[in-house]
Amino acid sequence: MILYPICSSSKGNCSYVSNGEVAILIDVGVGFKALVKSLKLAGLDEKKIRAIFITHEHYDHVKGLYAVTKNLNVPVYSSKETLKELILKNCIYYGTKMFEINKKTANIFGINVSAFNVLHDSVKGVRFKIECEGKKLAVCTDLGEASLEIINNLKDSNFVFLESNYDVKMLKEGKYPAMLKRRIASKYGHLSNLDAAFLINNLINFGVKEFLIGHLSEKNNLPQIALKTIILHLMKNNKKFMKDYNLYVAPVKNNGTKYEI
Ligand SMILES: [Zn+2]
Ligand SMILES: [Zn+2]
Repeated sequence: MILYPICSSSKGNCSYVSNGEVAILIDVGVGFKALVKSLKLAGLDEKKIRAIFITHEHYDHVKGLYAVTKNLNVPVYSSKETLKELILKNCIYYGTKMFEINKKTANIFGINVSAFNVLHDSVKGVRFKIECEGKKLAVCTDLGEASLEIINNLKDSNFVFLESNYDVKMLKEGKYPAMLKRRIASKYGHLSNLDAAFLINNLINFGVKEFLIGHLSEKNNLPQIALKTIILHLMKNNKKFMKDYNLYVAPVKNNGTKYEI
């Protein structure tokens, strides 16, 4: 299985997951032309996409959904609450097939996708676990808190794509209004670098070894700060980088870096 994070930040999120034969998209926070261009740089093909999975209705996850459903004519999967919201916001091209995924596993030509719920301030959103040829990938950003439910859903993964949204100090000292700062740091907002570090430490204890962090805030985080915070926390917990675990940062816009799982 291949994971290609096309874009990842507070401005746009979209991932392409493929077993070589077919592919799915997780979220579509990218326009159709930019999607095709990015895939080409990685030697991948939009014509292999057979389904789109949407985590929640926030703009950075759906801004290209209308154009992509219009161009590709593939079904959209999400919770029924999210699907309703997407229709109301005119985010899905009319005639597009839609399927509810809650509590069911969707099988897309050998790529099995299941969903679980998280706390985040959207209508009832979902996050996804993808299983293909015995390998398990979790794509899990926009998390209010690293709850036990999240740990239970991620702990048997071979590869976890996780949010590491903000640096605590940068958010505190930054220019965001106090209300927005409170929202981001609340259990309905996003995970800080330190929250991500605690979660990764927990998951390593369960045997997870490969981590990709993403959805970094462009105002309140930097890749080097996120990496440093997480690696230092794991060092304190006797976990060695590149021995006990691997850690990568998803680019804001990807020019070809893919991950084999
Ligand atoms: Zn987001
Ligand atoms: Zn969100």
